[in-house]
Amino acid sequence: MKKVLISRVLPDEVYRALEGLEVVRRDETAPLSSDDMRAALREYDGVMCTLGDQFSAAVFDDVPAPRCKVLANFGVGFNHIDVAAAKAAGVTVTNTPGAVTDATADVAMTLMLMSARRAGEGERMVRAGEWEGWHPTQMLGLHLTGKAVGIVGMGRIGQAIAQRCHFGFGMSVHYFSRSEKALTFEAQRHGDLKAMAAQVDVLVTAVPGSAETRHIIHADILGAMQSHARLINIARGDVVSQAALIDALERGVIGGAGLDVYEFEPDVPDALRAMDNVVLLPHLGTSTGEVRVDMGLMMVANLQAALRGDTPPNPV
Ligand code: NAP
Repeated sequence: MKKVLISRVLPDEVYRALEGLEVVRRDETAPLSSDDMRAALREYDGVMCTLGDQFSAAVFDDVPAPRCKVLANFGVGFNHIDVAAAKAAGVTVTNTPGAVTDATADVAMTLMLMSARRAGEGERMVRAGEWEGWHPTQMLGLHLTGKAVGIVGMGRIGQAIAQRCHFGFGMSVHYFSRSEKALTFEAQRHGDLKAMAAQVDVLVTAVPGSAETRHIIHADILGAMQSHARLINIARGDVVSQAALIDALERGVIGGAGLDVYEFEPDVPDALRAMDNVVLLPHLGTSTGEVRVDMGLMMVANLQAALRGDTPPNPV
């Protein structure tokens, strides 16, 4: 019987789908340590891993000829795994695309609306007992309907955000991607990210984390944005230069930000926490019960197929 390590607590439905395998459950919420990862490569046929489990080249280097044949990632983003090193070691890597798309797009919209309409700030005011009642100039925010959104990374999630903006909010859609996308609604593709940033009211990042996309939002891009514009990041923390973002917010270069992810997650700098015009969520993109079950079942299907020697449904 194949032996698999499940590196985090998962919904019960996912454990039930693992029948036929010898399953070792690691009932913890913290990521695997480097030693845990080396042991996992040595001692298991397959490993379910996820965000925070840094399967770096150094970890693979330390375990020549691993017993492990598949790292089944729970999540679409796999920038915590050195895929080239895994392949070189004979380890297949899989992910869970699609299952996460709508939920993550919904969180992007949550952040856009919260930032534009100052919802976090208003909620804090009510909770603090400081609300003095409605008046015509109270907490004026940015009207989102009909404005322009710029999406950096027009993949599954980027397109789901664009649909919501276009059909739900009558927004004009702009995007920056390496290739032209076939869409069922009007959207303008830009070859110059800085020029797009200058035109839009909301700039949303939805690119995968990678060496190429690290700090794709840097000081120049933020500097080109309009002073009322919002930056929303639901992608990965390091696609935005956090230092440049803090500087831009502190100097009023942009109007606000909505963040689901952070460059040095789970550390969130005091400077961000101190600013009222920043909405801060704890990486909630895919966090609904149904979505986590769907992701888990997809992860199990990938794991089972790879362990049978078949091509898994979602190799990366
Ligand atoms: P996807 O379908 O692969 O879309 C990513 C898009 O980014 C691609 O269409 C690609 O288009 C574009 N892209 C890649 N590199 C680029 C670059 N250098 N410059 C411009 N565009 C680039 O992936 P997805 O399913 O939408 O997921 C996107 C990312 O969201 C994931 O990788 C993950 O990190 C993040 N995510 C976050 C959460 C959360 O909880 N906050 C949840 C799910 C996913 P081209 O190839 O045409 O450039």
